[in-house]
Amino acid sequence: MQPSSRRIRGPGRAAVLASMTALTLAVATSAGTGRLSHGTPHTAGPAAQPTRGATVGPCMISGTLGVQMSEGMPTPPGYTRSTGTVRALNLMIDFPDAPGEGTAAERLAEFFPQTEKWFSTSSYGRLDYRPEAPIADWLRMPRTFKEYGIERGAPFDPGYRQLVEDIVTAADPEVDFGAYDLVNVLTTPNAGPSALDTVLSVTFAGNHEAPVADGVPVSNASFVYSRQDDGSGSYEETGYRVLPHENGHVFGLPDLYTHEGGGAVGHWDIMSEDWGANNDFLGWHKWKLGWLDDNQVSCVTGSGTVEYTLTPLAREGGPKLVFVPLDGRTGIAVEVRTGEGNDEAVCKAGVLVYRIDAEVDTGRGPVTVYDSGDDSGGCTRRPNVHAELSDAPFTAGETFKDQESGVQVTVDRVDLSGKYTVRVTRS
Ligand SMILES: [Zn+2]
Repeated sequence: MQPSSRRIRGPGRAAVLASMTALTLAVATSAGTGRLSHGTPHTAGPAAQPTRGATVGPCMISGTLGVQMSEGMPTPPGYTRSTGTVRALNLMIDFPDAPGEGTAAERLAEFFPQTEKWFSTSSYGRLDYRPEAPIADWLRMPRTFKEYGIERGAPFDPGYRQLVEDIVTAADPEVDFGAYDLVNVLTTPNAGPSALDTVLSVTFAGNHEAPVADGVPVSNASFVYSRQDDGSGSYEETGYRVLPHENGHVFGLPDLYTHEGGGAVGHWDIMSEDWGANNDFLGWHKWKLGWLDDNQVSCVTGSGTVEYTLTPLAREGGPKLVFVPLDGRTGIAVEVRTGEGNDEAVCKAGVLVYRIDAEVDTGRGPVTVYDSGDDSGGCTRRPNVHAELSDAPFTAGETFKDQESGVQVTVDRVDLSGKYTVRVTRS
């Protein structure tokens, strides 16, 4: 087997190419024809909410129109809504040159029920993810896998367009595409290379130029290939995690890993690392997705020092996020992470501090986690967890200071229930 560091970097690097290029093309194509005016009730995201109050308004940082997929708030329309009941159509496909390996039901069972459970836990029950598979068997494509030209970084046109058209033609007699909010295409694992070599899995999100089925474009679709099996024996528990990552894109979230891998955010968000042990979303993502209410977010706009209370992000209710906007597009976020809920890999609980730049595109490092102990080597030896940032959180008595902005976060204390008190200073 390859050493663990290789396993992290290899798939990360491959995946960034695949999804960055694909997303860029998908969104760029549709944006060129006025994607912003194409929001329909069927696909409206949390973005469709009315203008927020003055309390959190300054914290809703946003990028310019040139950014394809950004951390900005609100998420533009066109993506799948991320609260309430979301119906996910799952289609298991195979090819003449890659006939289905095992049964289609077994392939589906690699991702469910874990994926819906992951979303239910992360969203505090706000996202009711309903996976459906109206076609129980493999859906055979008319062309060979090779003919579609699916490879790392493949754009939507012409290969994926052809594939989606063929999927729609094959499934349409039995499937009402209009009844679903997103589509998962689960390919037979023997089509294409091993995920250890090249991660092909990709999502085309907000793409209203996609082929139309039952009157609606297949605009938010995730494609999963191969198996993210690192050989550590944990595949059955962790292999599904590529799907919540890919679905994160249909809800409008960018990739947080970069060409260098997971070094910017580490294992603190599934959009950064989706191999190995489970992890949750950042609090920022939960707010962006509508899983945290505005009153769970403290927006620090005044100067001086103010004390805030934060409860562990994985627990429902209570204050979760302190955000210090630096200007209209960047800010510093503060939250408490513990080894609860989806965060099974957390080896040092505490206050996580990170910077968000809504002007930085998907895969280019829109989020940067600050490490409380640079070059510490981290506190985990789990495979596929970026070790250096695993001990990034700040604990009682420690202070984070951003030299550039002068923003300072001091962790005062933590009580027995896990409630943290922090002091935030901005000059
Ligand atoms: Zn991705």
